[in-house]
Amino acid sequence: MEKYLKNYFLQVPESKRTSGATAYLAALDAVSSEFPQIAETIVQELRDQRSHLKLIASENFSSLPVQLAMGNLLTDKYSEGSVGHRFYAGCDNVDTVEGLAVSLAQEIFHAEHAYVQPHSGIDANLVAFWAILVQRIQTPEVAALGKKTLNDLTPEEYEKVRQLLVNQKVMGMALGSGGHLTHGYRLNVSAKIMQAVQYEVDPRTGLLDYKALQQQAQREKPLILLAGYSSYPRLIDFAKMREIADSVGAVLMVDMAHFAGLVAGKVMQGNFNPIPFAHIVTTTTHKTLRGPRGGMVLCTSEFKEAVDRGCPLILGGPLPHVMAAKAVAFKEALKPEFTRYAHRIVENAKVLAEGLMQKGIKLLTGGTDNHLLVLNVAASFGLTGKQAEMLLREAKFTVNRNVIPQDPNGAWDTSGVRIGTPATTTLGMGPLEMEEIADIIHTLLKHAQPGDDRKKKAHIDPHVMQRAQERVTDLLRGFPLYPEIVIE
Ligand SMILES: *Cc1c(COP(=O)(O)O)cnc(C)c1O
Repeated sequence: MEKYLKNYFLQVPESKRTSGATAYLAALDAVSSEFPQIAETIVQELRDQRSHLKLIASENFSSLPVQLAMGNLLTDKYSEGSVGHRFYAGCDNVDTVEGLAVSLAQEIFHAEHAYVQPHSGIDANLVAFWAILVQRIQTPEVAALGKKTLNDLTPEEYEKVRQLLVNQKVMGMALGSGGHLTHGYRLNVSAKIMQAVQYEVDPRTGLLDYKALQQQAQREKPLILLAGYSSYPRLIDFAKMREIADSVGAVLMVDMAHFAGLVAGKVMQGNFNPIPFAHIVTTTTHKTLRGPRGGMVLCTSEFKEAVDRGCPLILGGPLPHVMAAKAVAFKEALKPEFTRYAHRIVENAKVLAEGLMQKGIKLLTGGTDNHLLVLNVAASFGLTGKQAEMLLREAKFTVNRNVIPQDPNGAWDTSGVRIGTPATTTLGMGPLEMEEIADIIHTLLKHAQPGDDRKKKAHIDPHVMQRAQERVTDLLRGFPLYPEIVIE
């Protein structure tokens, strides 16, 4: 027996050992026997995540069953194609795994179809874009050929319309307003394969203005109206979005990468649940949904066939071990505990937002309705987002800087800091801890001196920094990460 498991057995009596921790540590020993530095780096990452408070809105802590489902021979299997329709032999067990993940995803979200192969959120968006182009390109040129979809065209016919692809329009939320790079940011492939138009939030309120959106859609007539965000702290009315899409004949695509867990956990219901309103929904599985790193597409049956062709037309071979972990995470998301978890994420975000605002910190839109908030640290403290991010990391908070609408500090330094509660809520933290976090952040940033050169680190009294570190460490002591894993 090697060191990780041996140490565990020495320190933890048999009655207290869990299969998860035993398997985890045995796996580390197995890795270590081949490459000790890799095993030690995994352990070091565990130490880092235990000693820092994770407030990154797009991160979470997946369960040990989710993590362990990924560490096995399923990674060795090729399974291009879809369930029951593979380009490789011997895919029976992958079919079982993928079939379970698909039906659980359909059950969670009440979706007509689920496609669980995308390796990430960005891949899911590419699959969705291509499926929409294939199904819905409607131009006089295609109509004249008398064919329904791009896939019905012969190669010769396709050549005639190929250049039309770049004339198709996607209208998505601007990066500075909280949108994602893949929603038509000028340097992203989404803005290269299509013509991209961006909509912005109202600069005075920071909120989406549906009337302005309607007018812009009317002017632009996009093929795809894309809703969803990475840093918008409010709900989106998807019924209104669908109305706007319908009024101009657009496909409504929703990217719920950030808030899929809040939909699964029934926090976002009625008009705020995208599934009944969108033609096609994409997501990651590792953010609020708390699964393995990966992506997924949910769609109406119109897009099923085109979406299922994602691999090998757009994606590399499926990752069966990750699909197994997705299935485990989906099973967890169907439990009542997950619904309670999702509600607590939002309660915590609201308490944190209130706490920060009471101390005078300016938040975009003046608060939050979801799992995230964006501090305007430039307006509140004269700091750049980068300076605040560095100070907070030194104080043992992991956050990330974020652009704000019309950001005067640009995309690198930024003026905002984005904070989310999914990970701390997984640890079990509640309102009291959120108030403490608000107070530590405020005390720290209040004492920072930005200096004349905003490109440099902000200055802070070392005693203030030390006190903040101690308070974060005290807070974390009550909420250990993966407590059953004993590493020293
Ligand atoms: C995180 C995110 C993505 C990208 O997900 P990856 O898995 O990193 O590719 C896509 N869209 C939105 C809205 C996101 O927040």
